[in-house]
Amino acid sequence: MSELLARHRAVIPNWVSLNYNEPIEIVSGKGNRVIDADGKSYLDFFAGILTNMIGYDVPEVREAVERQLATGVVHTSTAYLLRGQVELAEKIVRLSGIPDAKVFFTNSGTEANETALLLATYARKSDQVLAMRQSYHGRSFGAISVTANRSWKNSSLSPLNVHFLHGTDRHLSLFQGMTDADYIKACVEDLRHVLATSVSNDVAALIAEPIQGVGGFTMAPDGLFARYQEVLAEQGILFISDEVQTGWGRTGTAFFGIQNHGVTPDMITFAKGLGNGFAVGGVVARGDLMDAPHAVGLSTFGGNPISMAAANATLDYVLDHNLQGNAARTGKIIIDGLKAAAARLPVVKEVRGKGLMFAVELRSPAQAARFMEETKKAGLLAGKGGLGGNAIRMAPPLTLTVEEATEGLDIIVNVLEIINAEAA
Ligand code: PLP
Repeated sequence: MSELLARHRAVIPNWVSLNYNEPIEIVSGKGNRVIDADGKSYLDFFAGILTNMIGYDVPEVREAVERQLATGVVHTSTAYLLRGQVELAEKIVRLSGIPDAKVFFTNSGTEANETALLLATYARKSDQVLAMRQSYHGRSFGAISVTANRSWKNSSLSPLNVHFLHGTDRHLSLFQGMTDADYIKACVEDLRHVLATSVSNDVAALIAEPIQGVGGFTMAPDGLFARYQEVLAEQGILFISDEVQTGWGRTGTAFFGIQNHGVTPDMITFAKGLGNGFAVGGVVARGDLMDAPHAVGLSTFGGNPISMAAANATLDYVLDHNLQGNAARTGKIIIDGLKAAAARLPVVKEVRGKGLMFAVELRSPAQAARFMEETKKAGLLAGKGGLGGNAIRMAPPLTLTVEEATEGLDIIVNVLEIINAEAA
């Protein structure tokens, strides 16, 4: 065990899990690669953990933060006007497509979801919330209440009355043999049944990830969320899209993941990649929900000038370089390549994803662990996950080049071939 790992184990809780048998210390990064303490370079196919959305050491982000640091003003909280906050909010409002929207900034995805749940339960005077099976929304009491992923659910105590819906679980034998249309019909019938029988009064909101991140990049079939929204709208139930992983063009075909479904939600929550490594989260929501009296209060560090400088520079970079288009282009190369490999490698159970958010599901958690070790050896970082622990999640920086996409694909396919041969 390395000296740092021993010290880590002594003072950091053991549920803060580290990747790899011999965890690595990343000491620097440039472009879409990182370097560990031994000087080994890795192509980062997980973008930190979807945090370094436009890669490492991006001059535009570094210079924006340095300019802000040079002012000497670190943070004055919300007592004074903050130009960076207003500018970032204006951009996010425009991109969200939510009418008359306003933005509240937080420091993390958990706080963003907590804020959205507070706004929804306040607006609807209800503690009843709908969420999706296999979901992950964060570690606070509200966010964990709407999480349906046992390995991440650190408490079963809930301030909310939550009902979990079908929609991303069509692998269950219950739904075998169904077409997408049949599955959607069954899910909608179940939603109506929940609303008619399982709740005691008005429901505040549905919170859903357009592609479930921690759950293993599982997806609802096209059309499901639009049907859900129709049913919810009949009762004024709000739709919260958790875009902590799916936002900013990552899916290639839309700027926010839920827009792939033709749904304009009432609120979008975001975090992770927006600050390209700096802590930024937030909620963009309909103005009438945001402006409700006594809604949420302030966040001392939410929207601080350093994070706003990083986030404005990152978002401008994404837009100026059409990184959504790049995610579509490079993601297609990889997903097509993985699907072709899967067709001849029985060890691959499924390849799924959209744009630069794709997963390979293997037959067992042991094979997923092998995949992680072998790709690490070959110089590529990925993320393990999924409810069964047998999925590999990959979400490279949106700046991935076509050459890097091909290089990564080759490494992954080689490793899948090794694991397939071992399983034969
Ligand atoms: N929502 C989703 C979809 C996430 O993937 C995560 C984190 O992985 C969160 C919320 C929580 O975000 P944070 O870790 O910034 O609190």
